[in-house]
Amino acid sequence: MSLLADRESRLLIDGKLVAGSAGAFTTINPATEDVLGVAANADADDMVRAIDAARRAFDDTDWSTNTALRVRCLRQLQQAMRDHLEELRELTIAEVGAPRMLTSGGQLETPVEDLSFAADTAENYRWSTDLGRATPQGIPTDRRIVREPVGVVGAITPWNFPHQINLAKIGPALAAGNTLVLKPAPDTPWAGAVLGELITGHTDFPPGVINIVTSSDHAVGAVLASDPRVDMVSFTGSTATGRSVMTDAAATIKKVFLELGGKSAFLVLDDADLAGACSMAAFTAAMHAGQGCAITTRLVVPRARYDEAVEAAAATMGSLKPGDPTDKRTVCGPVISARQRDRVQGYLDLAVAEGGRFACGGGRPADRDVGFFIEPTVIAGLTNDARVAREEIFGPVLTVIAHDGDDDAVRIANDSPYGLSGTVFSGDDERAQAVAARLRVGTVNVNGGIWYSADAPFGGYKQSGIGREMGVAGFEEYTELKVIATAVAQ
Ligand code: NAD
Repeated sequence: MSLLADRESRLLIDGKLVAGSAGAFTTINPATEDVLGVAANADADDMVRAIDAARRAFDDTDWSTNTALRVRCLRQLQQAMRDHLEELRELTIAEVGAPRMLTSGGQLETPVEDLSFAADTAENYRWSTDLGRATPQGIPTDRRIVREPVGVVGAITPWNFPHQINLAKIGPALAAGNTLVLKPAPDTPWAGAVLGELITGHTDFPPGVINIVTSSDHAVGAVLASDPRVDMVSFTGSTATGRSVMTDAAATIKKVFLELGGKSAFLVLDDADLAGACSMAAFTAAMHAGQGCAITTRLVVPRARYDEAVEAAAATMGSLKPGDPTDKRTVCGPVISARQRDRVQGYLDLAVAEGGRFACGGGRPADRDVGFFIEPTVIAGLTNDARVAREEIFGPVLTVIAHDGDDDAVRIANDSPYGLSGTVFSGDDERAQAVAARLRVGTVNVNGGIWYSADAPFGGYKQSGIGREMGVAGFEEYTELKVIATAVAQ
């Protein structure tokens, strides 16, 4: 099987690979602007058929109770991905514009390996807990708490880390016994559709258990959020779209799980290695052209050393020239589309209009007239009130903000509509921990610690989302709780 090269991908509906009723749409290499090929373009009726299939598979088969089958299918999918890893790597670099070095981690290999966590959790999970005997209202009763799947899950995903996000939903949702319809992002349809090919070719997934519906039309995603036969929507994407998904889901009181945007802060306390910390912040902000929801895009540094911090950040960020993602040395590749590049450029123009200055970067690289590239950019001279410090830019852009001590640093970090992640650097671990404890965010990196892991829950406070992905908490998001109370025979 060739996963790349001038191909046309299909939808997976009810166990079959089928064409889209709305024809096909192109998928583009963001580094070269070349058309890679086409993907099946689903319309609303295709989505309804996929939901029908998922509903039947949940209601009429033993999928939800057959843990051994579910574990086997997930392990088969993982093995199929491992067996096609090099083709998947080239597909990911070409379609996502992901730098090759990231495909050894979060862009491909890590999420494939993390499927083990979902399968292992299903295998070892305590589905039933004995609550013991009690005599509520005078009736002797034996009580049990059981966990059950929610039902049909609609999964809607973005383009920035498509394998990670697709698999972080598919893995636990299916492991917990749900059936699922995946609606991948229009900018990266192949990263989703390829799973359909691997599933039909290499696994025992029963028809309808997993359906994959690519479309150029966002409204096809809205069908998933609205359809009464869908029990839960698991969405990752922008906060604006999350709001719309939540509104659509409200009519039928669906369970809603949201992973949304971020504007996370990197706090450098006055006893930290300033140059080292600022350099790390700059490297992180440039990685994958800044297209990561949890990237720390506000660098908050001691006021007395502001200029030094800007210089250190600019030295690193300016050295990371946007480059060819196929090159194993590239850290910053293209952004996903011309639309996204123009959006980032709009924010750079806004930074100047707001009174900021560029310590490096500031626009499109002069040496690249093809591809959706933006120079890694450090913005200086603004406060946390600036729009570029408050809104998610989703490009390789770092805004440096001054603080007046630990309390002020915490205030600035928390003064955001978002609450996804954060970083604290200090020469004193205890002091850093105390600051970390005051951040209203879902994950914190202290002095370079890595929070990303299959067993660690990830998600946000405030407008960064509802619920947690990954870890046992991420598995349990896809379950309902039931109490069974049996009267004790007298
Ligand atoms: P987006 O919100 O535009 O689209 C995400 C998905 O939603 C796509 O599949 C899209 O087709 C679909 N969609 C669009 N409108 C819809 C609607 N009305 N109803 C249902 N579905 C709809 O996001 P994007 O531009 O693809 O991705 C970038 C955003 O994702 C950023 O804001 C980023 O922070 C966020 N993100 C968050 C996380 C996280 O875990 N918190 C991870 C990655 C990306």
